[in-house]
Amino acid sequence: MSNSELAWLVAGNTFYFASAFILAFTLKDNRAFCKYLCPITVILKFTSRFSFLKIEGDKEKCTQCGNCVKACLMDINITEYVNNGERVLSTECIYCLTCTTVCPEGILNDTFKMDIGGKEHIQRR
Ligand code: SF4
Ligand code: SF4
Repeated sequence: MSNSELAWLVAGNTFYFASAFILAFTLKDNRAFCKYLCPITVILKFTSRFSFLKIEGDKEKCTQCGNCVKACLMDINITEYVNNGERVLSTECIYCLTCTTVCPEGILNDTFKMDIGGKEHIQRR
């Protein structure tokens, strides 16, 4: 590896770690670099709006126990979507299906439909 390649490697890593720490602390958000700076994620977040596969709950049967929100690896406020009668539109969802397994009522399911999301544009709540 030449000196200039090494310099670029060090500079790139320095930028990555510095920006990740600064964003995480200033925005108080997890995975801040991925959400706000990574060019690949920006594209994926846009395309995920059009995903046919999303989690859906039954508003009438939800007991508001909060198990799903506590278990969600991506800190998505699943109950907010359920209460609004929406599928989980968050682009943060990695479709791990954990929420479907912890719901004591068994009312969260993976569904195949068409919607475009849009309530959460950049930051999940
Ligand atoms: S599938 Fe996983 S990431 Fe998506 S809402 Fe459920 S627990 Fe969260
Ligand atoms: S785990 Fe099920 S019942 Fe509990 S808040 Fe979530 S969707 Fe509602």
